Amino acid sequence: MPLTGIEIFKLLPKTNCGECGVPTCLAFAMNLAAGKAELSACPYVSEEARAKLEEASAPPITPVTIGVGDRALKIGGETVMFRHEKRFENPPGFAILITDIMEESEVDARLERFKLQYERVGLTLRPELVAVKNDSGDATKFETIVSKVKQNSDCGIILMSSSPDILAAGLKACADQKPLLYAATEDNLDRMAELAKGNSCPVAVKASSLEELAQLTARLTEAGVKDIVLDSGSRTLRRTFEDQIFIRSAALVKKFRPLGFPTIVFPCEMTDDPMKEAVIASVFVAKYGGIIVLSDFKGESLFPLLVERLNIYTDPQRPLATTEGIYEIGGPDENSPVLLTTNFSLTYFLISGEIETSRIPSYLLVMDTEGLSVMTAWAAGKFVADAIAPFVKKCGIGDKVKHHKLVIPGYAAVESGGLEEELSGWEVLVGPREGAHIPAYLKTWKP
Ligand code: SF4
Repeated sequence: MPLTGIEIFKLLPKTNCGECGVPTCLAFAMNLAAGKAELSACPYVSEEARAKLEEASAPPITPVTIGVGDRALKIGGETVMFRHEKRFENPPGFAILITDIMEESEVDARLERFKLQYERVGLTLRPELVAVKNDSGDATKFETIVSKVKQNSDCGIILMSSSPDILAAGLKACADQKPLLYAATEDNLDRMAELAKGNSCPVAVKASSLEELAQLTARLTEAGVKDIVLDSGSRTLRRTFEDQIFIRSAALVKKFRPLGFPTIVFPCEMTDDPMKEAVIASVFVAKYGGIIVLSDFKGESLFPLLVERLNIYTDPQRPLATTEGIYEIGGPDENSPVLLTTNFSLTYFLISGEIETSRIPSYLLVMDTEGLSVMTAWAAGKFVADAIAPFVKKCGIGDKVKHHKLVIPGYAAVESGGLEEELSGWEVLVGPREGAHIPAYLKTWKP
């Protein structure tokens, strides 16, 4: 159970030295309890108190990192059952399956498909993991294919075998990448714990029931393994779905530590139909997969899954925003149109897409409205003449075009008069209300 501010205060030094950024230990304790401060801000907490406070403030679902560097995948760390309660923290990773009995050409093709990526609302969406499975029973073959995966991509890696010896062979090729070891079971738990600790790698644990799963994670934790991923062993949609909800609920609502870890699910083992597999994967994006292993990646199924993940894992209290500035689309020159919009990412994405479709090179001015769309920003007083004029002056667009004509969104038409008064030397034109009408509008453009 989390500690209250007063309980935390009792464990602090009570010197009120102020080095933590607030004047008193009590204020710091209250901030800690509210999640607004980090314990590390106080340099004087005793080791004993630190251990108690860290234990009490640990998230109910342990965050686990797979891989290293920029493309490391962090999963877990969740604190709510439902997104609208606060937000989901760490999106699930998508993994493509490669086995060591596949033809080399198939392995190459899958590694190529692993590189699929998409730009959307200013973000790059792509999968994170390659799951390398030992089906041959041959440690040398496994090591060879793991080396190939490592050379061909900076992805996170899942090493899959029930044999610790074979996993050790795979680790020879990629231990520095901190792969996920899959999987510790009742039969190999002690060896897997040694392997995970010896290489500082996370380890997945697989059981045939949730009770067994909890027992195995308790043993792994006792053995000193902290980074654990859960596989409940179910391979039907219904059972796996129920397991995900039970695990999340046990960890968050019941504070049951042995199930307080992220999960791994295998849509690739639940059906042979690629479209059904994608639909099953979509269920676990929403509820509550930590890693989702797919048999293969295809653009038509991967893209919707990546977009679903983006939608569910954005913070519902903070709109996605694009950086304020001048966006040059299609190589504009001094005679090109200048359009204005807000920095709500979806608005930017739609408007820039319509300008591209028009094939009329243009400047798009994106103004910071704290991520609000045109109508919302206008209603909030953030996209009105008084605010727009200083932005247009300071952004430097006046030096880039000769004509000094500014096209504002149709929904902000009421601002055109005021804006012309504020922006002397500029002619303000009212553009279409709907983005879809921009290509036709731009075809009539004259500088
Ligand atoms: Fe108290 Fe530590 Fe903050 Fe000093 S730094 S006021 S001892 S909590």
